[in-house]
Amino acid sequence: MRAEIFTIFPELVTSWCNASLLGKAVRSGELDIVVHDLRAGAKGPHRSVDDSPFGGGAGMVLAPEPLFAAVESKGPVRPLFLLGPGGRRFDQAMARELAEGGSFSLLCGRYEGVDQRVADHLVDGELSIGDYVLAGGEAAALVVLEAVGRLVPGVMGNEASGDEESFVEGLLEYPQYTRPAEFRGWPVPEVLLSGHHERVSRWRRAAAIARTLERRPDLVARRGGLSPQERALLAEFGFDEVSCAAYGPDRPDRP
Ligand code: SAH
Repeated sequence: MRAEIFTIFPELVTSWCNASLLGKAVRSGELDIVVHDLRAGAKGPHRSVDDSPFGGGAGMVLAPEPLFAAVESKGPVRPLFLLGPGGRRFDQAMARELAEGGSFSLLCGRYEGVDQRVADHLVDGELSIGDYVLAGGEAAALVVLEAVGRLVPGVMGNEASGDEESFVEGLLEYPQYTRPAEFRGWPVPEVLLSGHHERVSRWRRAAAIARTLERRPDLVARRGGLSPQERALLAEFGFDEVSCAAYGPDRPDRP
């Protein structure tokens, strides 16, 4: 997969992409991440990329000339998305779409934002990572790169771990535990120590449903509620569907 990022802080994006899971995938050739400096397209002694807004008001706006120049001189892989709070909401489904598509580029805004003509005539769409305002698009670009990058085949160590995660199938993930089996008096659910794989995977499914009901009933509603089999599974492990409490009989530490 190839991703190209346009930013006025190339060193920020590059250093993140050289570390951890992304860095490993870049070094092994599974991911090709190219970072472009938006100032490369700027003229003048200060390589200025911003200007004050027409009509007045606070702050500065990224100007069209340097942004068009930077993007057009590089001819990046498309689609090219502008990051901004007004864009399509980035989610796990879109992460999958981008991972399957193979290539995309991101343009990071700064200051008060970006001249509208960039959004209208240079990019293919706009992406938001959530309903809040960041100081710049770089953190958003890294969010997108992390979420998409780990879905690219060969990037995650254990291929299967992507299939049972939160938001796959519209559910949150079941709770995870590791050693020790009892920590400060808090035991791991008995069923996970049983060695019965079938029962473990049924409990995990029940726990995932219960947790999603409790914390994100909107996700359950969006998938059309629960099937009779899913209700039976909750009952089998003692998850109380009405109170939506994700505490089965295997969690004696909770009321
Ligand atoms: N004045 C703008 C916000 C500008 S924030 C407004 O009110 O909509 C500066 C830059 O940060 C934006 O150009 C964008 O690239 C980035 N940014 C801020 N919030 C973001 C979000 N929720 N998702 C993606 N990018 C965001």
